Amino acid sequence: MQICFLQIAIDAPLDTLFDYRWILERDDAPLPQTGQLVLVPFGRREAIGLIVAVREDSDMPAEKLRDALEIRTQVPQLSEAWLDLSRFAAKYYQRSLGEVAIPCLPKKLRAPKSVSIDRALKKLAKEAALPATQPQPDAPELNGTQHAAVTAITEAQHFTPFLLHGVTGSGKTEVYLQSSAQVLARTPNAQILILVPEINLTPQLEKSVCDRFPETHIVTLHSGLAEAERLRNWLSAHTGQAQIILGTRLAILASLPHLQLIVVDEEHDPSYKQQEGLRYSARDLAVWRAQQLDIPIVMGSATPSLESWSHARNNRYKMLSLPERAVQDAALPTIRLVDAGRNQMVDGYTAAMLAAIQLRLERNEQSLLFLNRRGYAPVLTCYACGWVSHCPRCTAFMVLHQPDRRLRCHHCSLEISIPHHCPTCGNVDLQPLGRGTQRIEESLHTHFPDANILRIDADSTRRKGSAQAAFQSVHEGEVDILIGTQMVAKGHDFQNLTLVGVLNPDTALFSHDYRASERLFAQLMQVAGRAGRAAQKDGSESEVLIQTRYPQHPLYAALQAHDYGVFANALLEERQQASLPPYSYQALLRAEARELEDAIDFLEQAAKLARHPQVTVNDPIPMTVTRVANVNRAQLLLESVSRAALQAMLRQWMPQLRGMKTRVRWTLEVDPADI
Ligand code: ADP
Ligand code: ZN
Ligand code: ZN
Repeated sequence: MQICFLQIAIDAPLDTLFDYRWILERDDAPLPQTGQLVLVPFGRREAIGLIVAVREDSDMPAEKLRDALEIRTQVPQLSEAWLDLSRFAAKYYQRSLGEVAIPCLPKKLRAPKSVSIDRALKKLAKEAALPATQPQPDAPELNGTQHAAVTAITEAQHFTPFLLHGVTGSGKTEVYLQSSAQVLARTPNAQILILVPEINLTPQLEKSVCDRFPETHIVTLHSGLAEAERLRNWLSAHTGQAQIILGTRLAILASLPHLQLIVVDEEHDPSYKQQEGLRYSARDLAVWRAQQLDIPIVMGSATPSLESWSHARNNRYKMLSLPERAVQDAALPTIRLVDAGRNQMVDGYTAAMLAAIQLRLERNEQSLLFLNRRGYAPVLTCYACGWVSHCPRCTAFMVLHQPDRRLRCHHCSLEISIPHHCPTCGNVDLQPLGRGTQRIEESLHTHFPDANILRIDADSTRRKGSAQAAFQSVHEGEVDILIGTQMVAKGHDFQNLTLVGVLNPDTALFSHDYRASERLFAQLMQVAGRAGRAAQKDGSESEVLIQTRYPQHPLYAALQAHDYGVFANALLEERQQASLPPYSYQALLRAEARELEDAIDFLEQAAKLARHPQVTVNDPIPMTVTRVANVNRAQLLLESVSRAALQAMLRQWMPQLRGMKTRVRWTLEVDPADI
């Protein structure tokens, strides 16, 4: 009998690895391997850990160590490259290796029992034996700029980050597909990872990819998958069977042993930032991973993030431009501004908006109305006494949801029935204030009683599969007017849509968040991009109508000119003067407590410990929405012009924070998305 010692990473907020014993029953028993998963006793429970080292001895006396229970030998070991990716993410985002490496594995892989793993592997083995029958379909001929892009991407044999800046409808997807085809043709076992920002976009892309690559194993990885499927798809990627992996941000942490190309579609999208647990940026990790593996990465967008845009200006990223729409005669839509201050509004519409919709109805074309606010009205109020529908648990209003006659808090999910009379003065005439998508839907029915009207937002698509069904009915032409939130703005290729109406975009112009105008521009460009994607019929023209009180605002001028470059350069200049990202680096410490004072106290103490000559430590402040579900939240912002200095400071700071005796809950976010 022989004993060896395993160093194991476990999902726990302790920056350490854990030692366990492993007894080899027979002399010829296989030694455990780095990268294998292992079941261990941890405290009073059992946990899955990851073996990061196998040793002949331990710093701890052998009798003090507990025995590992079972090694998951049926799962091939995770590679050293994958471990390095996890180590990097752990170090950069200031977490333990286990906190990064374990939660990103499918749940069923982390379960104490392994039956489902065996079942999944058996199923995959059967799939591998399926004969490929369909022939490879023809791809469309690339236009000049697409061709140049595909050539550049496929000629890059080493790490090369490409920024594919293409206007909406310019055929970026075709560039991804044909680059992928060439990589697969060149390296028969190659794997390609394609990231999209939202689950809703995966079915459409999956269809294009499956149609184009009928003989290739393709899997999706996103949080909407059932656990059994998630496990199967993950294992398929991990064993190298799946060659094209489509996924949302979590897919960046998948094990991909033969990865040869990474695509990040809509690279600017905020959804690439995970907002809980390990708050990573999938785009940034993708660039790191490409560099580590020395492979090309393509980041595509009509409105690149300012980070990527500035890298391209500095030639750290190679810019590939697709300035025109790919379909012949599918021009970019005209963008028209309607002064919402000077023109009279009826139910939130200007006469110009109503006329434009009417025209589309007459021509049998589709319209899309964009309003980034769900619910019926953001507030319910009493004009008699001034009561408003505050959430009792949050610093926020409860939103009126008319179809189900409820007031709902979008922060803490508290729900109550609409009160019959004012809780303060008894007045029975309570009035909705402002407009959400439900109210727009209602008034559209009055203005256009014969039109087919469909609303797509988080409320209308709660049931699994309902979003896909809704988008399908738009594609099939069953809808005349579509109303939606940002859910409808992205990616969808609606063929018969010639009008996009933007109802109330102005609030973002004056936000305290320095990223608000960058986001607004991206969002408007995206939603504008839904119009006029097909070749235009005679006499028909596609347009975007924006109702704004600030038609003179430079953001709208840049939008009208379809000139992202001018706008991005101006924003970069502002950022440079204010020393904001990408000209500085930030970390945010957030604290939560029953009493705001306790959260602020904690942050003040933490601030005293944060010392580095190149790091600015700001004062702790309450968060904008301070109270959520009766918990008060505050934050402390750290800034530095040197990423290395900030990282060095954080590495020193974290153990001190972990050592602080406090009941305040806190989290640290590196490169915070919202501050
Ligand atoms: P993007 O992702 O840049 O918004 P898409 O990839 O969705 O644009 O392409 C827009 C439309 O153009 C799609 O209908 C696509 O089939 C078509 N398309 C792309 N490339 C070509 C091409 N080379 N020739 C003809 N049509 C093309
Ligand atoms: Zn009242
Ligand atoms: Zn609330």
